[in-house]
Amino acid sequence: MEVINILGTGSAMVTKCYNTCFTISNGKEHFLVDTGGGNTILSNLEKLDIGMDQIHNVFISHRHNDHISGIIWVIRAVAQQIINGKYDNNLTIYCHKENIDAINTISDLLLDKKFTKYIGTRIIFREINDKCKLSILDWNIKFFDIRSTKQLQFGFSTILKNGKKITFLGDEPYNEKSFEYANNADYLFHEAFCLFSQKDIFKPYEKHHATVKDACENASRLNVKNIVMYHTEDKNITQRKKLYTDEGRKFYSGNIIVPDDLDIIEL
Ligand SMILES: [Zn+2]
Repeated sequence: MEVINILGTGSAMVTKCYNTCFTISNGKEHFLVDTGGGNTILSNLEKLDIGMDQIHNVFISHRHNDHISGIIWVIRAVAQQIINGKYDNNLTIYCHKENIDAINTISDLLLDKKFTKYIGTRIIFREINDKCKLSILDWNIKFFDIRSTKQLQFGFSTILKNGKKITFLGDEPYNEKSFEYANNADYLFHEAFCLFSQKDIFKPYEKHHATVKDACENASRLNVKNIVMYHTEDKNITQRKKLYTDEGRKFYSGNIIVPDDLDIIEL
């Protein structure tokens, strides 16, 4: 059974939910996609009953605080399990070169040597480049540069064991250069910072983010079956599912998924 475990759904400055990150899981093992900004990665993994010894693959999309900083806690937790003799095999962190440097630097600054000594031996980096294909758990993952104008960022696409195509576009709007990855996706993970009707309140375009309307128009044009919207503001959190679904419905006739933290999506 392939599922998505949603660990966080918010944008950078949220306080009512965690930053956007999730796992793709095959039942036993979990491919972690981004880590959010802090220690809540550990509590949300625990709440979803995901043990550190079930995570051996982590992807970091880009170097913003709300995506990368949680890796420090993952490294520390994995290193502690290694010390305790409870972690088999290695942890592989997939990211581009600048992020490898950043993770090494912050680890050296913030973690004790007893943890960082495993970096390079049991905790290893795998550099990714545009269009590179890597086999991770059960899946052949194609990573691609999402063409961010702010900072180099990667998304990915893969075909699940059940034959469905899943594509993650990171935390920026769909770019036409990603067409081959997003077109005809069964599941498109597209950020939606806020409702279009509230764009004057949240100003998504200044931050180079999309609205629900934009995301759903893209999903419609790309013939997507399910859109998953995340990386949102949190002022509407209690009504978010309904408000975002209602707006999205006007522009897209496929299935709209607006997950809350700790939701599980069966693929
Ligand atoms: Zn972000």
